[in-house]
Formats: sequence, structure tokens, C-alpha cells
Amino acid sequence: SLSVGIIGLPNVGKSTLFNALTKQQAETANYPFCTIDPNIGIVAVPDERLEQLADMLGRERKIPSTVKFVDIAGLVKGASSGEGLGNQFLAHIREVDMLVHVVRCFQESDVTHVTGNVNPLEDISIIETELALADIETVVRRKEKVEKLIKAKEKGAQKEKELLNKVEEILNAGGLVREEMDGEQMALLAELNLLTAKPIIYAANISEEQLLSDTNDVLADLETYAGKKGVAAAPISAQLEAEVAELDDIERQEFLKDFGLDSSGLHRLIKSVYRLLGLNTFFTYNETEVRAWEISVGTPVPQAAGKIHKDMETGFIRADVINWQLLLDCGDFVAARQKGLLKSEGKEYELADGDVVYIHFRS
Ligand code: GDP
Repeated sequence: SLSVGIIGLPNVGKSTLFNALTKQQAETANYPFCTIDPNIGIVAVPDERLEQLADMLGRERKIPSTVKFVDIAGLVKGASSGEGLGNQFLAHIREVDMLVHVVRCFQESDVTHVTGNVNPLEDISIIETELALADIETVVRRKEKVEKLIKAKEKGAQKEKELLNKVEEILNAGGLVREEMDGEQMALLAELNLLTAKPIIYAANISEEQLLSDTNDVLADLETYAGKKGVAAAPISAQLEAEVAELDDIERQEFLKDFGLDSSGLHRLIKSVYRLLGLNTFFTYNETEVRAWEISVGTPVPQAAGKIHKDMETGFIRADVINWQLLLDCGDFVAARQKGLLKSEGKEYELADGDVVYIHFRS
């Protein structure tokens, strides 16, 4: 499944957020470096459509798609040069598909801030500098190899050198590689697995009071900054989410209503993750279950089927496809077929978000 790394300075609320996400009690303490091993939690992606489909089709088993969250603690100033538990953490960051960067916006005198005061933009700059420094090291190492390739008259080596120079320039200027490179360049750089090339969301950790208040200068500054950079910023109250995570469904609805929210911050965060990564959800069913799957936007149906079982891709014949809402409106597959809404699609068809799919294949 998709993996998301939670990063940020110590004491910004990473573990609190992670715990809320996984509801598991990893240790939280007002102490930098308290979570040394990366904690890994598998989180179901909340999806109303899955619930409604399963109800309509009378299936007991509902299997949501999942996101793997990794709590990556210990990123501090100097991490890229081995400060704190530096390089170890950078290695963990390298393994994830995207990053949620938790930025502390809440004021709390009991909780020590590592640089002494709450300053989200400075915090972001500290973390991103470490990521950039690590990337510069990667680029410099690669450039040494490329020089050898140029001497050996390797095809494409000169072009790669020019690209690497450009990356180095961006990094030295404090930019994020992902925001400044086009798709083709990103594809060429994919092998380097640069940290600053990973999609990122700023999770602005605000207090419950800030959540309820209409004006929040700290958050507004952060949103303006993120907007300029082309990065998504999602306000979230980690502490509140941790409390919400302890409640049952009915209590939760009440609680959220009191805060004027229609869904929990975690729910919204996971949705942002999906949007950022350009993911769609499709649904499959059999006699006993309905299941949600995530795929990249624009995936042809055989490849999507291949996620379920390799045979479904290699032996693909056709797929019966209907949008989930249309199916719900029809009441069942028979009515949908009679109305001509259940479409038979071939191997060129690209799945749309919310498609309900039945794959016909030769095994
Ligand atoms: P980490 O080092 O980034 O993982 O931070 P933790 O999640 O361990 O949080 C550090 C401290 O800040 C803990 O004492 C938390 O209870 C506290 N904390 C986390 N989020 C919030 C929040 O939204 N509001 C307040 N007031 N305290 C928080």
C-alpha cells in the first residue's frame, strides 16, 4: 500500500498525530528523540461509498484501501551531517512515497520548542534545509559517476550532467526539486530518489482554541507561504484528533458537530494525501465482500486488475463497469444492466474514481 512518512522537528506533535491515525499507543513524551525506531501503522482509508455499496449489495465484509504511515522522529538541525540520529532518519524518509510535514503552530509553554519559540516558517526551513543538504550529497555523488560516463562516451551522460547541475542550483537556492522540475525531468531523476522530490503536505498542528477561533495569524502566514511554494497546507489539531480517535462513532459525530466540523481532520488529511498523489479509488465485489483499491489517475483497467491478481491482467477479457452512485440509484446490477448503465469496457478503458468493476478474465 501507499506509504506516508510523518516528519517534522521534535515536539511538534508527530507522535500525537501518528497515534491518532493508528490509535495505537506509541510513546509520547515531552522529550526530543523519544521515538527512536520508526513507528509504522496501517490505516484504513475512510470511504462512505464503500459502506453504502456493501449495505446495498448485502455484503458483510468491507475491505478498505490502506495507507501506511511511518512516524519518522529525530529530524533536527544538522541531521544531514549525522547530527542527532540524522542519517538513519533520512534513510527512512527515502523509503516512503510522500511526506506529511508536521509544523507546530500551537503555543504551549509546558511543551518545549526545540528552537525556543513557535515559528512555523523557520521550522519548515530547518527541515527542508536538511533534506536539501542530503540531496546535494546525493547529486554530487552521482555527478562524479556521470563524469566517468562522459569520458566513456556514454549516451545521454552529458544531458544528465546538465540536469544534475540544475538540480544542484535549485537545492542551493532553497527550492524543492518537485516544484521546479517538469514531468520528464522528474522521470530522469526518479532513480536518485531525492528527498525534496517527494510530494509533501504541511500539516499545521494548531490547538483546539486556534481551531475554534476565526483568526489565526500563524496559520495564515503558513498558508500564504505554502501557497507561494505550491505546497498543500492542512490545518489539524493533533491533540483533538487523538481525543476523537478514542470515541465511538456516535460520540464522534457529536464531538465534531460541537467544533463545527463535518469530518475529522484525519479524514481530511487522508483525502488530501489521495488528491496530492493523484489517486483514484475503484471498487470490486464478490459473493462475500466489497473492496476498495487505490490506483493512479489514468490507469487502464487491465493494470488496475493486475493489482488484484496477476492473472486478471494477463488474461484480461473485459470489465463490467458502473459508477458507484449510478449503481446505488438503480438499486441493483439487474436494473443497471436493463437501463444500459452497466458498461462493458475493453483494455483501453481508464478507470474513473468511484467505478465499481467486475473483471472477466481467462485464468
Ligand atoms: P513529536 O516529538 O513531534 O512526536 O511530538 P509529540 O507528539 O510527542 O508531542 C510533544 C508534546 O506536545 C506532547 O506533550 C504532546 O502532548 C504535545 N502536543 C502535541 N500536539 C499538541 C497540540 O495540538 N496541542 C497541544 N497543546 N499540545 C500538543
